[in-house]
Amino acid sequence: MTLQKKLEAADKSFRNWRAVPFVQKQKLLLKLAKTLDKNKKSYAENITKEMKKPISQSIAEVEKCALMTRYYANAKNVLAPEKIETEFRVSEIHYAPLGVVLGVMPWNFPFWQVLRFAVPAILAGNAVVLKHASICFGSGKLIEKLFLDAGFPKGVFQNLEIGHSEVKTVLENPIVRAVSLTGSEKAGAEVASIAGKNIKKSLLELGGSDAFIILDDADLKKAAKSAAKARLQNCGQACNAGKRFIIQKNVLKEFLPIFIKEYQKYVPADPMEKDTKLTGMARPDLADELEKQYKKSLKNGAEVILPLERISDYEFNPGLMMVKKGNPVLQEELFGPLGIVMVAKNDVEALELANDIPFGLGNSVWTKDKKRQQFFIENLESGTVSLNKETSSDPRLPFGGAKSSGYGTELSLIALKEFVTAKTIVGH
Ligand code: NAP
Repeated sequence: MTLQKKLEAADKSFRNWRAVPFVQKQKLLLKLAKTLDKNKKSYAENITKEMKKPISQSIAEVEKCALMTRYYANAKNVLAPEKIETEFRVSEIHYAPLGVVLGVMPWNFPFWQVLRFAVPAILAGNAVVLKHASICFGSGKLIEKLFLDAGFPKGVFQNLEIGHSEVKTVLENPIVRAVSLTGSEKAGAEVASIAGKNIKKSLLELGGSDAFIILDDADLKKAAKSAAKARLQNCGQACNAGKRFIIQKNVLKEFLPIFIKEYQKYVPADPMEKDTKLTGMARPDLADELEKQYKKSLKNGAEVILPLERISDYEFNPGLMMVKKGNPVLQEELFGPLGIVMVAKNDVEALELANDIPFGLGNSVWTKDKKRQQFFIENLESGTVSLNKETSSDPRLPFGGAKSSGYGTELSLIALKEFVTAKTIVGH
């Protein structure tokens, strides 16, 4: 089928799909969750083959997709018409789906990123076309089949298998009404500018360089274990990974050795082995880029705590470096197994360091003191503030960025209202 025919099929399908009752759509989502459960192993193997994540983490990714799908399958219908008291006989808000929504998605969570966007968009009555990352076309195909196997009408979810140069043509097509992109700042800015020029809505989930702040009353052992996991799961290739460890000066000496010990538990191994915690990066050019950033950071005064050692085209022994304010690496995202350690004398300085970057996705702060927690809750510039835990998304709670990490909300009931028009019905 040509691209134009696929878009026409999506449009046709949307016109029927939007009229299907909410509860009916939810029944299909339950089937989708069951299909995810049934095929968990084969989907996970495909993910690991495509982008090398440890198999246990691929399985966890598919399980989380099923959990999120069940959350929406049982969610309250916040899109039902709302009556508003006015002087008119009728005054109501109706939520009308936008139509065909394009998803441009990354490779780091090949199932999760796609379904996190598509499930609420489709439940709201839209049809979805997917442009997946070039190394994840296999996942794209499997997800299209997943929707069909669960009983969704043909055309409600379609995989396009196109290169990124074709995104512009698709987004400019009058059939496509909006776009959701998860990826780099560069791709986000380009795609959002095309959407803006064509007066189409965009939602952006972009990069991050989140702070993981350890204050002097934190449970240091717990924090160290969580910090290593935050930085190194998915081989450091997560938008909301803890990337900058800001440690209060008076606990640095005590914390650092425990942190290093936890960090060194992550050793690259076979992705298909169930006990593997760390693998290689998804592509050799991404590993090249990380190595370049490492060398540049050292040139600009960063000190090695653990060297970043390249052991193959894809793999590293993870690195850690001590970085001071002013190092240009602080303006960038490190998308791999390399962590930054910074020292702060007190809460105010820790906050300043945490906020002094272009991004703001999911900062984490470790203190038992409620007053200190409150200070960070109010002042951290990020979409999420995690307390005494690493940041991870939860289907029940909103997920999104501040500053250059993007705009718009995924997950929670709020996501159901991202790709709809709030239509006013008013009169006598
Ligand atoms: P990427 O290079 O920006 O690619 C993401 C998607 O955009 C891919 O489908 C890619 O297609 C497409 N793309 C790239 N350049 C484009 C352009 N100029 N026009 C249109 N489409 C374009 O990012 P990535 O390397 O896959 O993913 C890593 C980035 O995603 C990191 O910055 C990470 O922080 C971010 N991320 C953010 C979130 C979040 O929720 N905030 C979640 C996960 C990842 P091709 O593959 O064909 O190039």
